[in-house]
Amino acid sequence: MDTWLRSRMHELNDLNSVINLASWDREVYLPSKAASARAQQLATVQALHHERLVDPRLGEALARAAEGGPDFEALTPDERAMVRVLTRERDRAVRLPARLVTALAEAQGEGLQAWREARTTKRFERFQPALEALLALRREQADAQGHDGERYDALLEGFEPGMRVKRLTPVLTALRGSLIPMVAALGEQKRAFPAFLSGRAYDTGKQWQFTMRLLKAVGFDLEAGRQDVSIHPFTNSVHAQDVRLTTRLDAAWPPAALFGTLHEAGHGLYEQGFSPEHHRTPLASVPSMGLHESQSRLWENLVGRGRAFWVHHFPALKEAFPEALADVELDGFHAGINHVVPSLIRVEADEVTYNLHIALRYELELAMLRDELPVSELPSAWNERMRRYLGMTPPDDTQGVLQDIHWAWGELGYFPTYSLGNLYAASLYAAANRALPSLEADLARGDTAPLLGWLRANLHAQGFRLPAEERVRAITGEGLTDRDFLAYLRAKYGALYGIKL
Ligand code: ZN
Repeated sequence: MDTWLRSRMHELNDLNSVINLASWDREVYLPSKAASARAQQLATVQALHHERLVDPRLGEALARAAEGGPDFEALTPDERAMVRVLTRERDRAVRLPARLVTALAEAQGEGLQAWREARTTKRFERFQPALEALLALRREQADAQGHDGERYDALLEGFEPGMRVKRLTPVLTALRGSLIPMVAALGEQKRAFPAFLSGRAYDTGKQWQFTMRLLKAVGFDLEAGRQDVSIHPFTNSVHAQDVRLTTRLDAAWPPAALFGTLHEAGHGLYEQGFSPEHHRTPLASVPSMGLHESQSRLWENLVGRGRAFWVHHFPALKEAFPEALADVELDGFHAGINHVVPSLIRVEADEVTYNLHIALRYELELAMLRDELPVSELPSAWNERMRRYLGMTPPDDTQGVLQDIHWAWGELGYFPTYSLGNLYAASLYAAANRALPSLEADLARGDTAPLLGWLRANLHAQGFRLPAEERVRAITGEGLTDRDFLAYLRAKYGALYGIKL
């Protein structure tokens, strides 16, 4: 590859690393007086990155290297993939007029402000005009970036390259149809809420130590990353050898730390697993948010809420919290961390009900963007679906339509990536079980290396060579499907609840 093009790829990657590092620091350590200085620093580096990306000289170099261009034949398959990935990113940036970027940033600021006030007063009406303005701008953005008549596709493309509404809707609708009766059947069992998660005290220092143990146990490299504490756990990767995770410590609710850490570790393991020859290039990236989420959900749920994993780790957990867990044994613990109950709040939902929260949001944001649902009717449409899908009615808008921050800054197209993550996670885990017949026995011995090795080879080290669904198909033999996820839920919860699902 042209050395100029290669060095421009490195430069763009390094600028992104600096942006990520400064953003991570802002969320974790920034002194309060530094907030506006940091905002300026970030704006400067982001502008520099944008300038370098839309630079016509880069466009010319990419065109020469693209299929049909004079330099194409000389490129390796990986270099061709780098050119494809960067061309796509550049095209999306070029098509977005500077005026629209500024208008969106302003509307997002107003949206966040209005959303916060609406939450405080528990009244959606305060947020409605801001959301209408954001929707108008998102329609403009979609038209600028291009679509085949479905504006949502253009926004979805920003998070889930290659995915389309006509592919996604049937899958999420069928999934919803299978989950509603499953949730109802589990609800009829009337299981009591686990006592060990009701108001017992778990020392937060001990929780922290245990999360560090979990990070080591799953193979997260603490010499190529670190963990800190934040209110909302997140992962921010500066580089494959510098991956920052956060977790949350709550003295009354240890699942926040245990599963928060496992979730973020899943994201972090993916980022640490990029192939060294891809570092500082567009291939050292995850093909989609859904695929990224597949790794967090795989470690949090498929592994971390599985019985085998706790066969190994529960004795140490009990040793760390001898009083709170005095009357709890492995099976009771396993049942407790997999308690299914419909809830109002998405981020608190268990893995059976979770995707119903997503179906609701996806359907509503798609309808709003299509102008099929007036924003004024959003709260009633929300509440009506909550009743139909989960049998619950939010007592106010703060616990209903105003609960998530996504719409506050007009982020549409992101929610479905959570469900894609759950579905891809189950399909990948089923494939791992086929490839590694001793997987559950390995986990029960505390050995996660075979699973991580398999994920590394098949997924992590592949970077962005293929779009998400094609990558999953290459691994599992099938693309997006709800079959593996539903089979997993039926087997696991059928056994835990002693019923046929
Ligand atoms: Zn995640």
